[in-house]
Amino acid sequence: MHSQGTLYTISAPSGAGKTSLVAELLKRTPRLEVSVSHTTRPMRPGEVDGVNYHFVSHAEFEKMLESSAFLEHAQVFDNFYGTSQQWVESQLAAGEDVILEIDWQGAQQVRRLMPNTVAIFIMPPSKEALNERLTGRGQDDSAVIQRRMDAAVAEMSHYVESDFVVINDDFDTALADLEAIVRSHRLSLANQQLRHQALLSALLS
Ligand code: 5GP
Repeated sequence: MHSQGTLYTISAPSGAGKTSLVAELLKRTPRLEVSVSHTTRPMRPGEVDGVNYHFVSHAEFEKMLESSAFLEHAQVFDNFYGTSQQWVESQLAAGEDVILEIDWQGAQQVRRLMPNTVAIFIMPPSKEALNERLTGRGQDDSAVIQRRMDAAVAEMSHYVESDFVVINDDFDTALADLEAIVRSHRLSLANQQLRHQALLSALLS
């Protein structure tokens, strides 16, 4: 696939602050979009269909899968998640950079299909901080919390498959780290040649 924009995957265990960081990064960065995934997961309070996710039934998800609508898809806990191939391709072709907030299974699939993908992993600052964030408001029983913790450790074990690792100890620092990754990638030779073709040839004529 020929593309102009850069594709980023951002993975993290739940509780690492990924979604808030990405939301703020998008506000500050022009030409950067986040893909809204399709999921069979029930909507949580405060979530909006078409904004947080495209919430679909199992049958609808199955149909999309059969028609090869997904660039990648995965099962996380009991729910299915998938990224629209058509949306991602159209954004990249239009020169937009695209972020996929997806789990390690999806990040692996995307990397295989598009080797130029930049993979970022966000880590919590400590096991204690993660535990605290996963415990929530003390309303869940210990078996539920343990299940979340095990899932977080399983997700984190894939951090070695990424290109960049951001530790979210301080929000503003982690945000600046993400901005630095995007900015430096945009300044790479290949991207500058794509973006400033006319200028670069004029300067050398
Ligand atoms: P949640 O249901 O808490 O929003 O997300 C659960 C997990 O699914 C998170 O790790 C999130 O990154 C991942 N996820 C969300 N959308 C997608 C997707 O389209 N593909 C894949 N592979 N994972 C996703």
